[in-house]
Amino acid sequence: MKVVVNEIPRHGLLLEETGTGESLDIERDDINFSQPVVIKAAVSREYDHVKIELNVSSRIKFACARCLERWTKPIDKKIELVEPVAQQTEIDLTQIVREEVILDYPARMLCRDDCKGLCPVCGTNLNKHECGCKGMDAPGRRINLNM
Ligand SMILES: [Zn+2]
Ligand SMILES: [Zn+2]
Repeated sequence: MKVVVNEIPRHGLLLEETGTGESLDIERDDINFSQPVVIKAAVSREYDHVKIELNVSSRIKFACARCLERWTKPIDKKIELVEPVAQQTEIDLTQIVREEVILDYPARMLCRDDCKGLCPVCGTNLNKHECGCKGMDAPGRRINLNM
């Protein structure tokens, strides 16, 4: 989705595009999109700058880095930026979406901040069950949950 700066009408532009996580190249090894990605853009030109408001919505699926369960959750991201006109004649909105969405990904996806993860000894998902391994030391099999 590209906008030619000189072709932005005085009353601004409204654009909408639907892609996939793959076509937009915003997936990561551990993050996929389970629904089409809808991008809405409002672009207006004011004097020497272009104002861009983007809204990106979809649903992502990911494996929690701690408990390894698969989850999905909605994303609904608003991006607002101002580009000086002098800098470019064409603005690539898809590129902006790509950068902003990827930057926003956490280093590790967790199902929730306090996910208890897997027992380092028996592998039980501690969100679901308590296992009997508490306090047991198993060198070599320990998974550092605070990585
Ligand atoms: Zn988890
Ligand atoms: Zn255990």
